[in-house]
Amino acid sequence: MKEINILDKTFRELITEQEINSRIDEIAKQINSDLAGHDVVFLGILNGAFLFAADLYRRIKLESRISFIKLASYEGTSSSGSIRELIGWNEDIRNKTVVVVEDIVDTGNTLERVFGELVIRKASGIKIATMLYKPDAYKKDIFLDYVGFRIPNDFVVGYGLDYDGFGRNLPSVYALIK
Ligand code: 5GP
Ligand code: MG
Repeated sequence: MKEINILDKTFRELITEQEINSRIDEIAKQINSDLAGHDVVFLGILNGAFLFAADLYRRIKLESRISFIKLASYEGTSSSGSIRELIGWNEDIRNKTVVVVEDIVDTGNTLERVFGELVIRKASGIKIATMLYKPDAYKKDIFLDYVGFRIPNDFVVGYGLDYDGFGRNLPSVYALIK
C-alpha cells in the first residue's frame, strides 16, 4: 500500500495513475461519440480540475473550445453566509453545449452554482464530467453525465486536489487515513 505524508497528515493511495488514465480514455471516447455534431465548449472549474481538464481535453477529437472559471468564496459582511462569485468568464456559451469539467463533486454546491449560471447564460445543453464523485455527500439532483470514480466520503488529495495547497501534483488519488 502506497502511503504519503503531506504536512501533518498521512494518505493512502486510492486510485492509481493507470486507473485514472484508462478511465479518462473511456470518458473521452464517450464524449466524442455523444457530442459529435454539437457546438461544444468545455468549462473547467479551477483550481482542482486543471489536470483532469488537460488530460480529458487532449483526448477530445471534437472541434471545440475550452475555457476556465474559478469560484471565489468569501464571507459576506451580512449574516447571509458565504457568497460564491464566478470569475473568469470570457467565453460566450449561449447556444453552446457546455461540458462542465470538475475534479470532484462532493455536496454539489459548486456544481449547482455553475449550473445555474449556465442556464442564465443560455447554454443550449449542459453536461457534467467529474473525475471523482462522493455519492454519500451529494445533496443535489443535477445528473452527472460522466463520472470517473465513485468514492467514499473521505478527504482525498492528488490529481489536482489539494490539502492546504499541497498535493495537486500527485499523479494518483490518495485518501486520508483516519
Ligand atoms: P462541493 O461540496 O461544492 O461539491 O465541492 C466543493 C469543492 O470542495 C470541490 O470542487 C473541491 O475543490 C473541494 N472538495 C470536496 N471534497 C474534497 C476532497 O475530498 N478533497 C479535496 N482536496 N477537496 C475536496
Ligand atoms: Mg472543483
